Amino acid sequence: TGSAARALGYTRPTITRSHRGRRVPMTDNGATAGTGPSMAAGPGSPRSLEAAEYAAFAAAGARRDVPAGGVLFERAEPGRSMFVIESGSLRLSFGDGLADRIVGPREYCGELGVFIGRHSRMASAVAEQDCVLHAIDQTAFEQLLAREPLLVARFMRRCFAYLVASETQLILGLRRRNEDLMRTLDSLRETRSELGLAQQLVRTDELTGLSNRRHFMDVASRRLALLGPGEKLGLALIDLDHFKRINDLYGHAAGDTVLQTFARIARKRLRDEDLIARFGGEEFILLLGNASIDSLTQCIERLRQAFAECHFDSMPEGTRCSFSAGLTLLNPGDPLEVRINEADQALYQAKDNGR
Ligand code: GH3
Ligand code: MG
Ligand code: MG
Repeated sequence: TGSAARALGYTRPTITRSHRGRRVPMTDNGATAGTGPSMAAGPGSPRSLEAAEYAAFAAAGARRDVPAGGVLFERAEPGRSMFVIESGSLRLSFGDGLADRIVGPREYCGELGVFIGRHSRMASAVAEQDCVLHAIDQTAFEQLLAREPLLVARFMRRCFAYLVASETQLILGLRRRNEDLMRTLDSLRETRSELGLAQQLVRTDELTGLSNRRHFMDVASRRLALLGPGEKLGLALIDLDHFKRINDLYGHAAGDTVLQTFARIARKRLRDEDLIARFGGEEFILLLGNASIDSLTQCIERLRQAFAECHFDSMPEGTRCSFSAGLTLLNPGDPLEVRINEADQALYQAKDNGR
């Protein structure tokens, strides 16, 4: 039963001569929205109209007054007019992390609204200060084109050069953003694998590569909590016999090899659902999935035999090692620590019965 610990003592002598990853802010080069150094607003900038152009557009447009804070158009809404600014300034917001752009007197915006039949605004335009604008709709633009083809052609050529430059900058900006994202991803991946490694170290015993006590307790309590009615786990505490003597007679390194050999054997003989851990010193603990006292006993017996058959180069020919074990079963709802103590008592009983 779960509460009845059973002692298994192995009387074989230990050593017998006759017989082991930021959201990457858009590098604010303004590329995308066209506020890079080559795109600066102001007289002489590509967005600035020549005197003749300004006069022609202002005369062709309908005057519009927009008070500070007023919305001229919103992003994504259909656009059918362009605007020439007489006074004041507008803020164009492109969203998506792109830089805003300010347009001021003698400059224009929204020109795609007259070049393209069905255009959706790429930015929202809000008055930074009280503005006086001239709105040129598609009809007015067509009329201006018919009246002043050379002037409009020159204007359009400049617009297109500007658009192409913006596009190029946009692509550069996106490429840079992509590279930044890749770098962030790389460092996240690195952090993840470092974390994995650290986690691995935290739960592993360095000498034997087995789980350590902490990891065993974690896993065992989780498995115990998940136990269904009638299911049982096997628990065994295993202590190598007269281990101190091995150290004393053949040195600490020989003792280490015995510990490592026991670990290798145990790992090889156990199933995936079983867990063997180094509990401390020369003591190991075993958790057997879906166990009965018989299957647990058989499992320990197989381990004992395999361990007894091990030869160690660091010890005289014929030297054999043994261990003693205390066994118990875990039932759903059992307190883990109490069961481990019972297995410990059974282990000492086994030692008393002879190693
Ligand atoms: P018993 O049969 O009663 O279990 O006797 P024992 O000698 O095995 O037990 P004891 O507790 O007297 O000694 C255990 C020894 O295990 C003492 C300690 O120095 C040694 N030991 C603990 N950890 C290590 C280790 O990592 N490497 C080596 N080589 N020895 C270790
Ligand atoms: Mg011990
Ligand atoms: Mg011991």
